Amino acid sequence: MDRNGSTLETRFQATRLNIVLAVTTAFIVFFGITTLIEPPLNLTAALHSPKTWLMGITLLGLVMCLLRPDRVQLTTAVLLALTMLSLPFEVRWHVDHQAVPLGLFLWLLVYLLVSFVVFGTRTGSLLNVVSVGVMVLALVSSPPRLPMLVSSWLTGLIVLSVLAVIGYSILSFIEINLLEHAQDHARLRAARLDALTGVYGRGAIEEELRRTMATARQANTPVSIVVTDIDHFKGVNDRYGHNTGDDVLRAVAKCLRRNVGGMGGVVGRWGGEEFVVLLPGVSRTDALALAERLRREVCAAPMGGLPVTASFGVAAYRGTDDSPEQMFGRADLAMYQAKRAGRNAVR
Ligand code: GH3
Ligand code: MG
Ligand code: MG
Repeated sequence: MDRNGSTLETRFQATRLNIVLAVTTAFIVFFGITTLIEPPLNLTAALHSPKTWLMGITLLGLVMCLLRPDRVQLTTAVLLALTMLSLPFEVRWHVDHQAVPLGLFLWLLVYLLVSFVVFGTRTGSLLNVVSVGVMVLALVSSPPRLPMLVSSWLTGLIVLSVLAVIGYSILSFIEINLLEHAQDHARLRAARLDALTGVYGRGAIEEELRRTMATARQANTPVSIVVTDIDHFKGVNDRYGHNTGDDVLRAVAKCLRRNVGGMGGVVGRWGGEEFVVLLPGVSRTDALALAERLRREVCAAPMGGLPVTASFGVAAYRGTDDSPEQMFGRADLAMYQAKRAGRNAVR
Protein backbone atom coordinates (compact mmCIF):
# COMPACT_ATOMS: atom_id res chain seq x y z
CA MET A 1 0.00 0.00 0.00
CA ASP A 2 1.19 3.58 -0.62
CA ARG A 3 2.48 5.75 2.17
CA ASN A 4 -0.73 7.75 2.61
CA GLY A 5 -2.84 4.66 2.51
CA SER A 6 -0.77 3.05 5.22
CA THR A 7 -0.81 6.23 7.33
CA LEU A 8 -4.59 6.16 7.11
CA GLU A 9 -4.56 2.49 8.06
CA THR A 10 -2.32 3.19 11.09
CA ARG A 11 -4.66 5.96 12.25
CA PHE A 12 -7.66 3.74 11.73
CA GLN A 13 -6.00 0.96 13.74
CA ALA A 14 -5.83 3.41 16.68
CA THR A 15 -9.56 4.14 16.23
CA ARG A 16 -10.36 0.42 16.20
CA LEU A 17 -8.36 -0.13 19.38
CA ASN A 18 -10.05 2.78 21.19
CA ILE A 19 -13.50 1.50 20.26
CA VAL A 20 -12.78 -2.09 21.32
CA LEU A 21 -11.24 -0.92 24.60
CA ALA A 22 -14.25 1.33 25.33
CA VAL A 23 -16.81 -1.38 24.50
CA THR A 24 -15.08 -4.20 26.41
CA THR A 25 -14.64 -1.94 29.45
CA ALA A 26 -18.31 -0.85 29.28
CA PHE A 27 -19.41 -4.49 28.95
CA ILE A 28 -17.40 -5.58 31.99
CA VAL A 29 -18.58 -2.63 34.12
CA PHE A 30 -22.20 -3.17 33.07
CA PHE A 31 -22.26 -6.90 33.82
CA GLY A 32 -20.22 -6.38 36.98
CA ILE A 33 -22.85 -3.96 38.28
CA THR A 34 -25.85 -6.05 37.20
CA THR A 35 -24.36 -9.18 38.80
CA LEU A 36 -23.97 -7.25 42.05
CA ILE A 37 -27.44 -5.68 42.08
CA GLU A 38 -29.37 -8.72 40.88
CA PRO A 39 -30.10 -10.61 44.09
CA PRO A 40 -29.40 -13.12 45.34
CA LEU A 41 -25.67 -13.10 44.72
CA ASN A 42 -25.08 -16.80 44.33
CA LEU A 43 -21.59 -17.90 43.34
CA THR A 44 -22.65 -21.32 42.00
CA ALA A 45 -25.42 -19.79 39.88
CA ALA A 46 -23.05 -17.06 38.67
CA LEU A 47 -20.48 -19.67 37.61
CA HIS A 48 -23.13 -21.46 35.56
CA SER A 49 -24.40 -18.29 33.92
CA PRO A 50 -23.24 -17.65 30.32
CA LYS A 51 -23.04 -13.95 31.29
CA THR A 52 -20.29 -14.61 33.84
CA TRP A 53 -18.26 -16.57 31.31
CA LEU A 54 -18.77 -13.90 28.70
CA MET A 55 -17.68 -11.28 31.19
CA GLY A 56 -14.52 -13.27 32.07
CA ILE A 57 -13.68 -13.77 28.40
CA THR A 58 -14.29 -10.08 27.67
CA LEU A 59 -11.95 -9.17 30.54
CA LEU A 60 -9.34 -11.45 28.98
CA GLY A 61 -9.96 -9.76 25.63
CA LEU A 62 -9.50 -6.32 27.21
CA VAL A 63 -6.17 -7.42 28.73
CA MET A 64 -5.09 -8.89 25.35
CA CYS A 65 -5.95 -5.61 23.61
CA LEU A 66 -3.84 -3.70 26.12
CA LEU A 67 -0.92 -6.12 25.85
CA ARG A 68 -1.04 -6.58 22.06
CA PRO A 69 -2.76 -3.54 20.52
CA ASP A 70 -1.55 -4.70 17.07
CA ARG A 71 -3.66 -7.86 17.43
CA VAL A 72 -6.91 -6.02 18.13
CA GLN A 73 -8.62 -7.64 15.13
CA LEU A 74 -7.76 -11.17 16.20
CA THR A 75 -8.86 -10.52 19.79
CA THR A 76 -12.13 -8.95 18.60
CA ALA A 77 -12.75 -11.90 16.25
CA VAL A 78 -12.40 -14.34 19.17
CA LEU A 79 -14.65 -12.20 21.40
CA LEU A 80 -17.34 -11.90 18.74
CA ALA A 81 -17.20 -15.62 17.93
CA LEU A 82 -17.68 -16.46 21.62
CA THR A 83 -20.51 -13.94 21.86
CA MET A 84 -22.19 -15.68 18.90
CA LEU A 85 -21.78 -19.03 20.63
CA SER A 86 -23.37 -17.66 23.81
CA LEU A 87 -26.32 -16.16 21.90
CA PRO A 88 -28.56 -19.30 21.93
CA PHE A 89 -28.04 -19.54 25.71
CA GLU A 90 -28.88 -15.87 26.16
CA VAL A 91 -32.04 -16.25 24.09
CA ARG A 92 -32.97 -19.37 26.05
CA TRP A 93 -32.40 -17.55 29.36
CA HIS A 94 -34.61 -14.60 28.32
CA VAL A 95 -37.39 -16.90 27.11
CA ASP A 96 -37.25 -19.05 30.26
CA HIS A 97 -37.36 -15.97 32.53
CA GLN A 98 -39.94 -14.19 30.32
CA ALA A 99 -37.53 -11.24 30.22
CA VAL A 100 -37.79 -8.38 27.73
CA PRO A 101 -34.70 -8.69 25.48
CA LEU A 102 -34.04 -4.91 25.30
CA GLY A 103 -30.55 -5.06 26.87
CA LEU A 104 -29.58 -8.02 24.68
CA PHE A 105 -30.48 -6.17 21.50
CA LEU A 106 -28.76 -2.97 22.60
CA TRP A 107 -25.54 -4.91 23.22
CA LEU A 108 -25.93 -6.68 19.88
CA LEU A 109 -26.22 -3.29 18.24
CA VAL A 110 -22.98 -2.18 19.88
CA TYR A 111 -21.30 -5.41 18.70
CA LEU A 112 -22.63 -4.83 15.21
CA LEU A 113 -21.01 -1.37 15.12
CA VAL A 114 -17.77 -2.78 16.54
CA SER A 115 -17.66 -5.49 13.87
CA PHE A 116 -18.24 -2.89 11.14
CA VAL A 117 -15.39 -0.74 12.39
CA VAL A 118 -12.96 -3.56 13.13
CA PHE A 119 -13.56 -5.85 10.16
CA GLY A 120 -15.10 -3.55 7.56
CA THR A 121 -18.63 -3.37 6.26
CA ARG A 122 -18.75 -6.74 4.48
CA THR A 123 -17.62 -8.93 7.38
CA GLY A 124 -19.65 -6.73 9.72
CA SER A 125 -22.82 -7.39 7.72
CA LEU A 126 -22.06 -11.10 7.56
CA LEU A 127 -21.66 -11.22 11.34
CA ASN A 128 -24.96 -9.44 11.73
CA VAL A 129 -26.73 -11.92 9.44
CA VAL A 130 -25.19 -14.79 11.45
CA SER A 131 -26.25 -13.31 14.80
CA VAL A 132 -29.82 -12.67 13.58
CA GLY A 133 -29.91 -16.20 12.12
CA VAL A 134 -28.66 -17.77 15.34
CA MET A 135 -31.30 -15.88 17.35
CA VAL A 136 -34.11 -16.82 14.98
CA LEU A 137 -33.11 -20.49 15.21
CA ALA A 138 -32.92 -20.30 19.01
CA LEU A 139 -36.35 -18.61 19.14
CA VAL A 140 -37.92 -21.13 16.78
CA SER A 141 -36.64 -24.00 18.91
CA SER A 142 -38.02 -22.41 22.13
CA PRO A 143 -40.52 -19.63 21.29
CA PRO A 144 -41.62 -17.09 23.91
CA ARG A 145 -45.14 -17.74 25.18
CA LEU A 146 -46.36 -14.19 25.93
CA PRO A 147 -47.52 -12.31 22.78
CA MET A 148 -45.98 -9.11 24.18
CA LEU A 149 -42.60 -10.82 24.31
CA VAL A 150 -43.01 -12.20 20.79
CA SER A 151 -43.49 -8.65 19.53
CA SER A 152 -40.42 -7.49 21.56
CA TRP A 153 -38.24 -10.16 19.93
CA LEU A 154 -39.66 -9.34 16.50
CA THR A 155 -39.05 -5.60 16.98
CA GLY A 156 -35.51 -6.27 18.18
CA LEU A 157 -34.66 -8.51 15.24
CA ILE A 158 -36.15 -6.16 12.65
CA VAL A 159 -34.61 -2.99 14.13
CA LEU A 160 -31.22 -4.71 14.37
CA SER A 161 -31.41 -5.77 10.72
CA VAL A 162 -32.58 -2.33 9.54
CA LEU A 163 -29.80 -0.61 11.49
CA ALA A 164 -27.32 -3.08 9.99
CA VAL A 165 -28.45 -2.08 6.49
CA ILE A 166 -28.23 1.65 7.36
CA GLY A 167 -24.83 1.15 9.01
CA TYR A 168 -23.59 -0.83 6.01
CA SER A 169 -24.74 1.85 3.57
CA ILE A 170 -23.25 4.78 5.47
CA LEU A 171 -19.98 3.07 6.34
CA SER A 172 -19.36 1.71 2.84
CA PHE A 173 -19.99 5.21 1.50
CA ILE A 174 -17.36 6.55 3.93
CA GLU A 175 -14.97 3.67 3.12
CA ILE A 176 -15.14 4.32 -0.64
CA ASN A 177 -14.65 8.06 -0.19
CA LEU A 178 -11.74 7.62 2.20
CA LEU A 179 -10.05 5.23 -0.21
CA GLU A 180 -10.50 7.61 -3.13
CA HIS A 181 -9.22 10.48 -1.03
CA ALA A 182 -6.13 8.46 -0.08
CA GLN A 183 -5.53 7.51 -3.73
CA ASP A 184 -5.88 11.14 -4.90
CA HIS A 185 -3.51 12.23 -2.17
CA ALA A 186 -0.97 9.57 -3.18
CA ARG A 187 -1.23 10.57 -6.86
CA LEU A 188 -0.75 14.25 -6.02
CA ARG A 189 2.21 13.41 -3.84
CA ALA A 190 3.79 11.19 -6.50
CA ALA A 191 3.41 14.01 -9.04
CA ARG A 192 5.32 16.32 -6.71
CA LEU A 193 8.23 13.92 -6.27
CA ASP A 194 11.22 13.41 -8.49
CA ALA A 195 10.78 9.97 -10.04
CA LEU A 196 14.46 9.01 -9.89
CA THR A 197 15.45 10.08 -6.39
CA GLY A 198 12.14 10.27 -4.50
CA VAL A 199 12.90 13.79 -3.16
CA TYR A 200 10.74 16.77 -4.17
CA GLY A 201 10.80 17.71 -7.84
CA ARG A 202 11.70 21.18 -9.08
CA GLY A 203 8.16 22.57 -9.01
CA ALA A 204 7.41 21.23 -5.54
CA ILE A 205 10.62 22.48 -3.94
CA GLU A 206 10.10 25.93 -5.50
CA GLU A 207 6.61 25.98 -4.04
CA GLU A 208 7.98 24.89 -0.63
CA LEU A 209 10.60 27.62 -0.79
CA ARG A 210 7.99 30.28 -1.51
CA ARG A 211 5.71 29.00 1.24
CA THR A 212 8.49 28.74 3.82
CA MET A 213 9.69 32.26 3.06
CA ALA A 214 6.17 33.65 3.34
CA THR A 215 5.87 32.02 6.77
CA ALA A 216 9.30 33.34 7.79
CA ARG A 217 8.29 36.84 6.69
CA GLN A 218 5.15 36.71 8.83
CA ALA A 219 6.69 35.07 11.89
CA ASN A 220 10.10 36.71 11.55
CA THR A 221 11.92 33.39 11.81
CA PRO A 222 15.14 32.29 10.09
CA VAL A 223 15.24 30.16 6.93
CA SER A 224 18.32 28.86 5.16
CA ILE A 225 18.91 26.98 1.99
CA VAL A 226 21.77 24.81 0.84
CA VAL A 227 22.38 24.25 -2.86
CA THR A 228 24.59 21.31 -3.75
CA ASP A 229 25.99 20.03 -7.02
CA ILE A 230 27.92 16.79 -7.49
CA ASP A 231 31.49 17.38 -8.67
CA HIS A 232 32.59 16.09 -12.07
CA PHE A 233 29.39 14.15 -12.44
CA LYS A 234 29.66 14.10 -16.22
CA GLY A 235 32.82 12.04 -15.73
CA VAL A 236 30.88 9.50 -13.65
CA ASN A 237 28.41 9.00 -16.51
CA ASP A 238 31.18 8.88 -19.10
CA ARG A 239 33.29 6.35 -17.19
CA TYR A 240 30.70 4.13 -15.48
CA GLY A 241 27.55 4.65 -17.54
CA HIS A 242 24.27 6.42 -17.03
CA ASN A 243 22.80 3.71 -14.75
CA THR A 244 25.65 4.03 -12.27
CA GLY A 245 25.20 7.81 -12.52
CA ASP A 246 21.55 7.31 -11.54
CA ASP A 247 22.62 5.15 -8.56
CA VAL A 248 24.93 7.96 -7.42
CA LEU A 249 22.08 10.50 -7.68
CA ARG A 250 19.78 8.26 -5.64
CA ALA A 251 22.45 7.68 -2.98
CA VAL A 252 23.26 11.39 -2.65
CA ALA A 253 19.54 12.25 -2.38
CA LYS A 254 19.12 9.59 0.30
CA CYS A 255 22.12 10.90 2.23
CA LEU A 256 20.76 14.46 2.14
CA ARG A 257 17.32 13.33 3.25
CA ARG A 258 18.66 11.20 6.08
CA ASN A 259 20.66 14.12 7.46
CA VAL A 260 18.04 16.85 7.29
CA GLY A 261 14.74 15.01 7.80
CA GLY A 262 15.03 15.04 11.60
CA MET A 263 15.39 18.83 11.73
CA GLY A 264 12.40 19.52 9.46
CA GLY A 265 14.54 20.10 6.37
CA VAL A 266 13.12 19.43 2.91
CA VAL A 267 15.19 18.10 0.00
CA GLY A 268 14.45 18.75 -3.66
CA ARG A 269 16.16 17.98 -6.96
CA TRP A 270 16.64 21.26 -8.77
CA GLY A 271 17.69 19.48 -11.94
CA GLY A 272 20.47 17.19 -13.23
CA GLU A 273 22.84 16.55 -10.32
CA GLU A 274 21.92 19.68 -8.40
CA PHE A 275 19.90 19.46 -5.18
CA VAL A 276 18.37 22.02 -2.83
CA VAL A 277 17.97 21.60 0.91
CA LEU A 278 15.41 23.93 2.45
CA LEU A 279 15.89 24.50 6.17
CA PRO A 280 12.99 26.30 7.90
CA GLY A 281 13.91 27.82 11.27
CA VAL A 282 17.65 27.26 10.73
CA SER A 283 20.14 30.14 10.96
CA ARG A 284 22.99 30.69 8.51
CA THR A 285 25.58 29.50 11.06
CA ASP A 286 23.72 26.24 11.65
CA ALA A 287 23.11 25.78 7.92
CA LEU A 288 26.85 26.19 7.24
CA ALA A 289 27.61 23.57 9.89
CA LEU A 290 25.04 21.22 8.39
CA ALA A 291 26.40 21.74 4.86
CA GLU A 292 29.87 20.91 6.14
CA ARG A 293 28.52 17.71 7.70
CA LEU A 294 26.78 16.82 4.42
CA ARG A 295 29.98 17.48 2.46
CA ARG A 296 31.93 15.15 4.73
CA GLU A 297 29.26 12.43 4.58
CA VAL A 298 29.08 12.54 0.78
CA CYS A 299 32.83 12.15 0.34
CA ALA A 300 33.31 9.71 3.25
CA ALA A 301 31.02 6.89 2.09
CA PRO A 302 30.75 5.54 -1.47
CA MET A 303 27.66 6.92 -3.18
CA GLY A 304 26.05 4.32 -5.44
CA GLY A 305 29.29 2.34 -5.09
CA LEU A 306 31.57 5.21 -6.20
CA PRO A 307 33.67 7.79 -4.36
CA VAL A 308 32.16 11.19 -5.21
CA THR A 309 32.33 14.69 -3.81
CA ALA A 310 29.96 17.63 -3.98
CA SER A 311 30.15 21.41 -3.63
CA PHE A 312 27.79 23.32 -1.38
CA GLY A 313 26.50 26.90 -1.27
CA VAL A 314 24.57 28.32 1.68
CA ALA A 315 22.27 31.33 1.89
CA ALA A 316 19.98 32.63 4.63
CA TYR A 317 16.83 34.71 4.54
CA ARG A 318 17.67 38.40 4.93
CA GLY A 319 14.33 39.89 5.90
CA THR A 320 11.22 41.31 4.27
CA ASP A 321 12.99 42.66 1.15
CA ASP A 322 14.41 39.24 0.32
CA SER A 323 12.73 37.01 -2.27
CA PRO A 324 12.93 33.24 -2.91
CA GLU A 325 14.67 33.90 -6.24
CA GLN A 326 17.27 36.18 -4.64
CA MET A 327 17.96 33.74 -1.82
CA PHE A 328 18.31 30.84 -4.24
CA GLY A 329 20.56 32.99 -6.44
CA ARG A 330 22.89 33.71 -3.51
CA ALA A 331 23.09 30.02 -2.56
CA ASP A 332 23.76 29.06 -6.20
CA LEU A 333 26.47 31.71 -6.46
CA ALA A 334 28.06 30.46 -3.24
CA MET A 335 27.99 26.93 -4.66
CA TYR A 336 29.84 28.11 -7.79
CA GLN A 337 32.39 29.84 -5.56
CA ALA A 338 32.92 26.47 -3.85
CA LYS A 339 33.43 24.93 -7.32
CA ARG A 340 35.96 27.62 -8.23
CA ALA A 341 37.75 27.12 -4.93
CA GLY A 342 38.56 23.55 -6.02
CA ARG A 343 35.21 21.72 -5.39
CA ASN A 344 34.35 19.47 -2.38
CA ALA A 345 33.83 22.65 -0.35
CA VAL A 346 31.18 24.75 1.42
CA ARG A 347 30.70 28.46 0.81
P1 GH3 B 1 30.97 20.14 -12.00
O1 GH3 B 1 31.91 19.59 -11.00
O2 GH3 B 1 31.43 21.46 -12.54
O3 GH3 B 1 29.59 20.23 -11.48
O4 GH3 B 1 31.01 19.16 -13.24
P2 GH3 B 1 29.88 18.20 -13.70
O5 GH3 B 1 30.49 17.23 -14.64
O6 GH3 B 1 29.21 17.61 -12.53
O7 GH3 B 1 28.86 19.19 -14.36
P3 GH3 B 1 28.05 19.17 -15.68
O8 GH3 B 1 26.92 20.14 -15.47
O9 GH3 B 1 28.95 19.40 -16.84
O10 GH3 B 1 27.48 17.72 -15.78
C1 GH3 B 1 26.27 17.35 -15.26
C2 GH3 B 1 25.95 16.02 -15.84
O11 GH3 B 1 24.85 15.41 -15.18
C3 GH3 B 1 25.57 16.05 -17.29
C4 GH3 B 1 24.40 15.11 -17.42
O12 GH3 B 1 24.67 14.10 -18.35
C5 GH3 B 1 24.29 14.50 -16.05
N1 GH3 B 1 22.91 14.22 -15.68
C6 GH3 B 1 21.89 15.11 -15.60
N2 GH3 B 1 20.77 14.48 -15.21
C7 GH3 B 1 21.09 13.16 -15.06
C8 GH3 B 1 20.36 12.00 -14.69
O13 GH3 B 1 19.16 12.03 -14.40
N3 GH3 B 1 21.04 10.83 -14.62
C9 GH3 B 1 22.37 10.74 -14.92
N4 GH3 B 1 22.97 9.57 -14.83
N5 GH3 B 1 23.07 11.83 -15.29
C10 GH3 B 1 22.45 13.02 -15.36
MG1 MG C 1 28.20 18.88 -11.20
MG1 MG D 1 25.23 20.82 -12.39
